[in-house]
Amino acid sequence: MRSRSSLIRPGMTLAALALAGSALISPTAAQGDVAAVVTDAFAPQLVTVDTPTRADKSRLQSLALDLTEHAGHDYVEVVLHTAVDADALREAGFTWDVRIPDLVRREAEINRLDDLFAATTLRTALPSGRDAYRSLADYNAEMRALADANPGLVRLLTLPERTLDGRTVLGVEIAKNVAARDGRPTFAMFGLHHAREWPSGEHAMEFAIDLVAGARAGDPRISGLLERGRMVVVPVVNADGFHLCFTDGQLIDLREVDDGGTVSILGTPGNAYKRKNCRVVDGQDTPDGTCAAFSATSPGGFLVGVDLNRNYGGLWGGPGASDLLADPTYRGAAPFSEPETRNVRDLISSRQVTMMVSNHTFSNLVLRPNGVNPTTIGPDGLPVGDAPDEQAMKELGADMTAHNGYANIHGWELYDTTGTTEDWSYNATGGYGYTFEIGPDEFHPPFARVVDEYVGAGSYAGQGNREAYLVAFESAVSRASHAVISGRAPLGATLRLRKSFSTPTWSPENDFTDSLESTMVTSGRTFAWDVNQSTRPAVQSRLIMLLSEEPTRSETFTGTAAPLGSVDHEFVVTETDQEILQVELDWPTPDDLDLEVYRKNADGSLTEVGSSGNFVNEKEKATINAPTPGTYVLRVINFASVSPTYTLTASLFDATEQTTAPLVEAWTLTCERDGQVLQAVPVVVDRGQQVSVDLKECTRRWTR
Ligand SMILES: [Zn+2]
Repeated sequence: MRSRSSLIRPGMTLAALALAGSALISPTAAQGDVAAVVTDAFAPQLVTVDTPTRADKSRLQSLALDLTEHAGHDYVEVVLHTAVDADALREAGFTWDVRIPDLVRREAEINRLDDLFAATTLRTALPSGRDAYRSLADYNAEMRALADANPGLVRLLTLPERTLDGRTVLGVEIAKNVAARDGRPTFAMFGLHHAREWPSGEHAMEFAIDLVAGARAGDPRISGLLERGRMVVVPVVNADGFHLCFTDGQLIDLREVDDGGTVSILGTPGNAYKRKNCRVVDGQDTPDGTCAAFSATSPGGFLVGVDLNRNYGGLWGGPGASDLLADPTYRGAAPFSEPETRNVRDLISSRQVTMMVSNHTFSNLVLRPNGVNPTTIGPDGLPVGDAPDEQAMKELGADMTAHNGYANIHGWELYDTTGTTEDWSYNATGGYGYTFEIGPDEFHPPFARVVDEYVGAGSYAGQGNREAYLVAFESAVSRASHAVISGRAPLGATLRLRKSFSTPTWSPENDFTDSLESTMVTSGRTFAWDVNQSTRPAVQSRLIMLLSEEPTRSETFTGTAAPLGSVDHEFVVTETDQEILQVELDWPTPDDLDLEVYRKNADGSLTEVGSSGNFVNEKEKATINAPTPGTYVLRVINFASVSPTYTLTASLFDATEQTTAPLVEAWTLTCERDGQVLQAVPVVVDRGQQVSVDLKECTRRWTR
């Protein structure tokens, strides 16, 4: 089962080593300098950065460092690729613990563990029985083989656009009578948007194999799902990035080979921790392989690439996505500027995808939209609020996490993001969308962990992500979770559903036109088509809190905060006070002050109730809904080396709950024969609803 061959073998010369992988050493170093260059190299590390407040998280996000999806109430894990990264963290006043001190050595250790695992394991509990990570070639070969061996059940999908390095992106579609052009709903699953997150592709591929095996074995649950719905799996969205990352990740560090000896060859793991795609210059397709050539000078491949999970159109360009190419969360030049995200968009726009799961690593999370805190003022000048389907998506998240033990939270509870897959897919189509962050602690852990997370371990043994995905599939085919259009129509008619609209981004000049279009062919005199609701969640009514124009009471404090110190002010909220407490902090210099708000308990201890979540250079503001009467401590913290004078204002406001004005949108349904439209009707249908349409005109003209 193991297909990996070591790229570096003992006995190879240094010159050969330099050729073996472009990631090894700086190409500018003369041969004689190699040892010196690599000995001095900074070992890339995984560190846990202390971020006691939300403001700290935002400040950390502004440093262009490589943040992982592993974050908690008071920390975020970060990959430090170079000494410059560590300096940036230190200069910004952050403290941190080192969790993995040398990712190169860890990579070699993982390779060693995986070799041992493969050598001692006959067959794992995975549906494929695999005992080692797949390469890109493995994925593509397996998808082809799966389709070849299961005609009628599995169809190979070739996504419309090639990657920047010219690779074809493949997927598989799985359903009983897969070629039928019927009206069944689709569950779409994606892996490897981020290159280094290898288990995210493994689980997608294993689920595909699992479904096929279940169908062949006559498993009633799986057979039922594949009769009522379709599964589409694209395990490797970012084929270029993954290929580079996987290849570099297989390199062996000679320090490991000679068992703790003094020879130090790998100064950087090259692209073994690459996140983004292979975009080198915005708007240009550079010669194939350009991306790989950057790995020596760009640890982690960071100076190149777009973060594909910030490049989708929904709320594109907002908080949690950078406009700098060198940033790990670079959003790209425009919404859907990348072929990889356009591939996914095309797939989702041309089917009725009622459920979407995008796999990532790591942190044991199931994330749901939206990606930004609901109090964030959105591009329309109103708070973004919760998703209209918050309650249903939260409940489904809980159903899934009951089987894998992951945390069921909003995207923004990790940190703010915009332009993610589900930010777009959910808001544009109404199909539910989730991100799975697989595994507790590493981007690509020893392979045994991949097995455990899929089939479940400990108290989740026999469940894991396999069971969570099956729950998602059940929701995808449940007519309570989407809509149905039914009626009478001529036998063999092509029915087409179409909808065009402007998708809002974070700034109106980037808004763009989205088109959804899918078809089915009737196989009888009546039809029933499982579809998404006609009105987009993005324009559905949502609940927001609006403040009165003038505060009912306000108090202003001024002061000076000493460097790296803090100053406390007290403010009393009485029984008669109003619904919202807002605390604003302002200061004249471009320095960095933070604001935290605490409520004083009866015993004098403090409970944090709010902190500001603004970016550097923006002034700080904390909002506390329905403050409990009592004494509040407003703490001004100075991270800078100077002593700025500040103004602090605490205000109480009346607030009114308001629902935004809803729009109603319709599908356009056409009934066609040989490409000729015989009838077109608008159809308005909500989630959970079934509407019947009158296609008499089509029938009348059909028989003429
Ligand atoms: Zn990811």
